[in-house]
Amino acid sequence: MNNLLDDESVPMITPSEVIEHLYCPRFTYFMNCLQIPQHEEQRFKVIKGRELHTGREDRNRSYLRKRFGCIKKEISVYLASRKLRVRGIVDEVLFLDDGTLAPLDYKYAEYSEKTFITLKIQSVLYGLLIEEKYEKPVNRGYICYIRSNNKIKEVLYTEKDINNANRAVDEIFKIIQKGFFPNKTKWKAQCFDCCYRNICS
Ligand code: SF4
Repeated sequence: MNNLLDDESVPMITPSEVIEHLYCPRFTYFMNCLQIPQHEEQRFKVIKGRELHTGREDRNRSYLRKRFGCIKKEISVYLASRKLRVRGIVDEVLFLDDGTLAPLDYKYAEYSEKTFITLKIQSVLYGLLIEEKYEKPVNRGYICYIRSNNKIKEVLYTEKDINNANRAVDEIFKIIQKGFFPNKTKWKAQCFDCCYRNICS
């Protein structure tokens, strides 16, 4: 339980920072080592997602209960772990009828395989945080794609997913603590509208 203590004495990152890192490791360098923030408009999707989330809570409640066996849920739950070195607010913690818990995260995005792979790691991190906080098993999570007509994707966590999530956190701390300049993203198309392209040689 002591790992849940979050007194600011242990450096932590957020699951959103992990997503940004997975899109391009250089985001981590520019934001955390050089302290150059992304343009505000990049945050639009996150803000929009939160606004939409509020309005959809009631509508989704019965749907979730029926389809996933959700018997209770908590909304906007703050989670932190010294062991994982991650903190964040998950949109919802679902209590399922098989005794397990699961995170539900709303994304102001359209569903695609590419985003799913990245968001899956974020879901795994929320899952690990929930498992630690509530001391109950977490073996899956849910992602709601608002721009795909609220399509909900189930994520079944595997050992490989958990290793990938832990590895991403390790990589981020390595960049922050050692200050090395990481490789470019493997998705070159992303560079076209990147706010760092003028300083990213
Ligand atoms: S320009 Fe490309 S490689 Fe550089 S930070 Fe942006 S996305 Fe990453």
